[in-house]
Amino acid sequence: MADIADFVTGFERFQQRYFGGDQSVFARLRQGQAPRAMVISCGDSRADPGMLMGVGPGEIFVVRNVANLVPPYDHDAQMPGVRADIEFAVKSLQVERIIVLGHSGCGGIGALMDGDGAGRYEFIGAWVSIAAEARERVLRELVEAGEMTLHGWYFDLEHGELLEYDAATGKFVALVARPNGAAIRVDPVAGRSG
Ligand SMILES: [Zn+2]
Repeated sequence: MADIADFVTGFERFQQRYFGGDQSVFARLRQGQAPRAMVISCGDSRADPGMLMGVGPGEIFVVRNVANLVPPYDHDAQMPGVRADIEFAVKSLQVERIIVLGHSGCGGIGALMDGDGAGRYEFIGAWVSIAAEARERVLRELVEAGEMTLHGWYFDLEHGELLEYDAATGKFVALVARPNGAAIRVDPVAGRSG
């Protein structure tokens, strides 16, 4: 497990790479950010989107929360939360695509499916209960207008695979073939390990 000193050492590597070696990245990013995509992912320490996708600074706008959820549109919400993140990404950053990245063995989804969220936790039960169809109004309009693409991705951390939801079949399909051969199709809910 990483100690605080390991985190500082990690920053030193980052510093050497971007402020000692190739300084062009932050020379550009000092002017502002223009990420290509927004990623809504779980906070799970095993499913870091930047690490999974191999992107550098400035490439993806990331929001992470338990079970990568987006509450339903509610203009009167006292605490907009993720809704504000989406509004910023869409209206200010004008991202072209939004990727919702789930993963296997998700504790938040486990609490939802097992119905034990209300008993064990103070907030998680209510939070994961929003895991129904939930999309922002502005996002829905842009997707329908063809101005934005919405992706449903799933990281299978047991097999090291990244899958994408295929709306036509209702199945998740591997984006990259497994190292030992053919792509597989799975149902993330049925296939989850808890
Ligand atoms: Zn999770």
